[in-house]
Amino acid sequence: MKSVTLASIIARLETAFPPTLAQEWDSVGLVCGDPAETVERVLVCVDVTAEVVDEAASSGCGLVVAHHPLLLRGVDTVAASTPKGALVHRLIRAGCALYTAHTNADSARPGVSDALADLLGVIDTVPLEPVPTGPLDKWVVMVPVDDAPALRAGLFGAGAGEIGDYRHCAWTVVGTGQFEPLPGARPAIGAVGGVSQVEEARVEVVAPRSARAAVHAALRQTHPYEEPAFDVLELAALPSGIGLGRVGELVEETTLAGFVAVVGRRLRMAPWGIRAAGDPDRRIRRVAVCGGAGDSLIGAAARAGADVYLTGDLRHHVVDESLRAGGPAFIDAGHWATEFPWCAPTAELIAGLGVPATVFEQPTDPFGLSAAPHG
Ligand SMILES: [Zn+2]
Repeated sequence: MKSVTLASIIARLETAFPPTLAQEWDSVGLVCGDPAETVERVLVCVDVTAEVVDEAASSGCGLVVAHHPLLLRGVDTVAASTPKGALVHRLIRAGCALYTAHTNADSARPGVSDALADLLGVIDTVPLEPVPTGPLDKWVVMVPVDDAPALRAGLFGAGAGEIGDYRHCAWTVVGTGQFEPLPGARPAIGAVGGVSQVEEARVEVVAPRSARAAVHAALRQTHPYEEPAFDVLELAALPSGIGLGRVGELVEETTLAGFVAVVGRRLRMAPWGIRAAGDPDRRIRRVAVCGGAGDSLIGAAARAGADVYLTGDLRHHVVDESLRAGGPAFIDAGHWATEFPWCAPTAELIAGLGVPATVFEQPTDPFGLSAAPHG
């Protein structure tokens, strides 16, 4: 068997679910474990329960990958006498690491809501709440033609000119610049009291706004002029392809009742089933989904023109108010059931490194009992 270190599995996970995408309040990443150790088997789950730890320990797993953080709020102790500390102890004793990918796996693409959308046949999806791309500046610098290569190199060195998977991006055109140095000036070209015309390049590059001071310093350093002419333009923020929730289309229009039946067949249902709100005959084509607790995206689903919004943990009043205001129909398919679809592609991602990875199949939904309606 190929020997794969925990560090290399983490690297694969963090490429797929960059920790920088996690919400500020979240806690993601390695909880326990030594990145230098090798891992021979991995278990992927939604929640770290005692049953998950039992299975990990008895099957020789060196890593549990969980969606929900075991330790989220401030932790003072992992004493074995506390419920969560006991699990951490058992994991460490079993030589099993624990790694969490939570809201970073929600926002990433593909992420939790993509797995859910795929399972339900929702295609051409975009995020319900896209995160904006990082703020960018556009720098426009006029420089004597012969000095343009050095200027570009300086700007690139300070972090400018990177767009997606490309670097050293710039656009240059040549024109005529003119100036008249006044008494006291020490011009690199021309003399005090006379107008000079110089063939200049206009160099345009983008740079992260956070690199503005460094780019400005590099410009001053590599430009031959005492007073270089340049513009800094703040570029408008554009939505990116990542973010929370997804909205897309069904290949074939159906009714709300029909779609509820499809959801019931394709998702692992909680013992109490799934529940829906809205006219059963309502036509459904545009579908918004969010794995987990998606209350906060109801407004975004309505603005996106969704015919139905499927998520978990929906509450009476928010659903009632949204329906009265003409919002989408709702399907509450349960928190665990809407996040569980993420486990399989995550196990596949890890198995791609040559480490056997399986999914903990038993529901970890805390609501394990139900009574059927009577009458
Ligand atoms: Zn969740």
